[in-house]
Amino acid sequence: MTDCIFCQMAKEKNLLLAEFKHCFVIKDQYPVSPGHLLIIPYQHTENWFTSSSEVKAEINLILEKMKKLLDDGYHPDGYNIGMNCGPAAGQTVMHLHVHLIPRYRGDMSDPRGGIRGVIPTKQKYE
Ligand code: 5GP
Ligand code: ZN
Repeated sequence: MTDCIFCQMAKEKNLLLAEFKHCFVIKDQYPVSPGHLLIIPYQHTENWFTSSSEVKAEINLILEKMKKLLDDGYHPDGYNIGMNCGPAAGQTVMHLHVHLIPRYRGDMSDPRGGIRGVIPTKQKYE
């Protein structure tokens, strides 16, 4: 256990949207879009590549469950699923978290390229 912000949040049960064996789910405090969720393992680990196969497998299941929840509650038109692994890739909280970001038609003028927008000038390839 470390002292990081997500380790702290794991103890604040009232903030948790859902709890599973290895992971919990919270709403992102600064959502990219309405419904933006974070899936986070209880056990501190830096990123996807340092996490166990059990955690990875559970995250897959949670993504399915949370998609259903968001479909019912927010009716998005699409999703981005993403992880920033390491500061060079933009990670700011060094405790694995998977972003599940609902997307809505018209939420930006030209969404083509989506996650390629991690480097904004490269978002579109044609
Ligand atoms: P990263 O850049 O590390 O992939 O993302 C960190 C995410 O954590 C950001 O989307 C940010 O909005 C979210 N975040 C940072 N601090 C808090 C917090 O105290 N509570 C919640 N719910 N989300 C946070
Ligand atoms: Zn932590």
